[in-house]
Amino acid sequence: MTATYDADLQLFIAGEWRGTEGRDARPVYNPATAATIADVPSATAADLDEALAAAKRGWPLWRAKTPQERAALMHKVADNIRQRADHIATLLTLEQGKPFGEARGEVLSAAALFDYFAEQGQRIEGRVVQRPTGQRAMVLKQPVGPVAAFSPWNFPVNLMAKKIAPALAAGCVVISKPPEETPGCTSAIMRCIVDAGISGDVVQLVYGDPDMISRHLLASSTIRKVSFTGSTAVGKHLMKLAADNVQRITMELGGHAPVLIFDDCDLDATLDKVVAQKFRNAGQVCVSPTRFYVQDGIYDAFVQGFAQRTAKVQIGDGLDAATQMGPLANSRRIPAIEKLIADATAKGGRIIAGGDATGDGYFFRPTAIADVPLDADVMTTEPFGPLALIRPFGTEDEALEQANRVPFGLAAFAFTENGRRINRVADAIESGMVGINAFAISAHDMPFGGIKESGFGSESGPEGLDGYLVPKAVHIY
Ligand code: NAD
Repeated sequence: MTATYDADLQLFIAGEWRGTEGRDARPVYNPATAATIADVPSATAADLDEALAAAKRGWPLWRAKTPQERAALMHKVADNIRQRADHIATLLTLEQGKPFGEARGEVLSAAALFDYFAEQGQRIEGRVVQRPTGQRAMVLKQPVGPVAAFSPWNFPVNLMAKKIAPALAAGCVVISKPPEETPGCTSAIMRCIVDAGISGDVVQLVYGDPDMISRHLLASSTIRKVSFTGSTAVGKHLMKLAADNVQRITMELGGHAPVLIFDDCDLDATLDKVVAQKFRNAGQVCVSPTRFYVQDGIYDAFVQGFAQRTAKVQIGDGLDAATQMGPLANSRRIPAIEKLIADATAKGGRIIAGGDATGDGYFFRPTAIADVPLDADVMTTEPFGPLALIRPFGTEDEALEQANRVPFGLAAFAFTENGRRINRVADAIESGMVGINAFAISAHDMPFGGIKESGFGSESGPEGLDGYLVPKAVHIY
């Protein structure tokens, strides 16, 4: 499949599309070739001030709409996304590298998010407490206010929608800053929103210097809520900035997911699942399985099976139908992963597959290291790339201790056929999400979020909507 990069890269501020005139521009690369394919304009301080003023104007208007009016517009957004799915997915693959099939699935899941939250927004309900004296106390749920939403480059379409859709459903307005690496697919989503008839004071789009933009927006008391998906380091920084205006926050940060493989699992079926999942999106997934703890009795067979399957993963341009894993999304991940591998092998880890960058563009071969020592940096630093780490364990207690040893707690997985063990593991593991015998833990109607340094607050599900609502207690005497 060949495709041209047919993107219209502009900011959308106060109902106006704004290009590079009078603004700095940043290059956009195709990670499969390392070629520059476009320039994206950077918002200026004046742009951001106008965006803040527009959000202030737009909030009372959007909030005054009925949930049904909001839902009708949001369903139109979903329809627009579905109709343009092939175009948006092509832009996503060209900018981010993932195989086209995965890109298309991501785009359709963004449409589904708008549909889900359109419906969920019509179910925002408070409660009434009846007092014996005839008094009433009510809990109302109200929109939190204008939102600054920062989403990353690994699932740029889905994660942008995961913030905008619940915010709109709750009655909030949004200034969205998607990543500068993938502005074509995210500005195409913005077109779907605008073409649905949602006004330019309700949803706005900015790109530019992430630090400048977040400092500028969070310094304004107009912003009442900050939603961020990205690294723990940046999340901590934004939490400090949000403290100055006591802005509410949802933080979806890094993970380092353990996978506990018990000797009673179906080994072949498990290996098929874990290898496919490990290299999905080239491992650039916050819930990617990374630390594989395998019970002694099946350790050697697991290592061998993992190596064989990993060697067969087909890497290439995401537009090639045979490709199972594309390039990394940006060049800076290559030295970061190389450094982690060098440290792990110097300390005794054994490379059983891959191990290096390859070809033009930002390709890195699917890599697995066995016998990784606990003091290797990669056992505590999230690899965020196509790198699997494998270690043996003896007992269930030992496996749980290993699983919980890192400061992260986003996703965790276990493979076992023992029903009692499933309950024990699900209870004891320190993470916001647990997958048993499967990796499908991201669903529109379920909370998605972490504990410990993986952040707090949830996206998706009714809990995701709650993140954009504040309770108000009304006492009537
Ligand atoms: P990074 O820490 O430089 O950036 C992470 C994300 O935050 C990017 O989308 C970036 O645009 C944004 N960002 C950076 N500084 C910001 C600021 N001051 N204000 C607002 N946004 C800002 O890391 P990176 O090299 O882009 O990505 C690698 C690391 O990021 C990984 O190790 C991983 O932990 C994390 N990450 C996590 C997710 C996730 O889904 N949780 C997604 C992407 C990246």
